[in-house]
Order: sequence, then C-alpha cells, then structure tokens
Amino acid sequence: METFTVRSSARTDFRQINQEVSTAVKATGIKDGICVVFVPHTTARVTINENADPAAREDIESTLDRMVPWDGPYRHAEGNSAAHVKASMVGHAAVIPIDRGRLALGTWQGIYLCEFDGPRTRNVHVQVVSS
Ligand code: ZN
Repeated sequence: METFTVRSSARTDFRQINQEVSTAVKATGIKDGICVVFVPHTTARVTINENADPAAREDIESTLDRMVPWDGPYRHAEGNSAAHVKASMVGHAAVIPIDRGRLALGTWQGIYLCEFDGPRTRNVHVQVVSS
C-alpha cells in the first residue's frame, strides 16, 4: 500500500489529488487492475467529480456547507459534528480502474480529498489490486 499526505487550508477544502494517486499507482508497478483510494479519517473523505471548472468544486463545497451548518444543534462533544455528517454523506473511498499503468479517469474527472474540519494534514492510502 502507498500512502501520501495532503495539507488542507480551510475548514471545508477539496484538494485535487490526481497526480499523487497516479504516482502511487506507478510506484506499485501494477499495470492493470483497480486502485482503491481510501482516506483514514472521520472528518475527511474522497470523491471524484469535475476538475475543469473550479466553480463546480466550489458549488459542491458550499452546498454541503449549507445542507449541514457548522452550528448544530448537535450532541457530539468535540464540536465538529457537521464535519462527521458531511464525511458520511460523501463516502470513505473511491475505486478507479487502472489501464496500462494509468488511471482510467474521464477527461473531466478529478479525484478530491474532501476536507471538512481543516486546516489539517491528512493521509491518503492507495491500494492497487492486479487483475
Ligand atoms: Zn468529532
């Protein structure tokens, strides 16, 4: 398994990680299979969405913030329940096909580390399974 870190710079902050994931896949030497991108945190996750127009990413961030306001009412004593809720809405992993050593992403697809309780440094695990 390969692991890299991502530094977020705001409470809600989607960071594109295509290059880091691609580098991790190449490091395995596996040419064909599937790649699992897993974020081992409870207030950050991973998603795949448009990377051409930054406004699309910003709309996702702002919509999630509107749907799940930071100020509750919530019961979780740590005070970051909104981040936990948004993390569960987004999901904990992405699966990407690997074709001839490359991520088989669509032209406009970006892989994003989704930060919901930043700024922080986050780990991203990449596991490639050969086919
Ligand atoms: Zn918490």
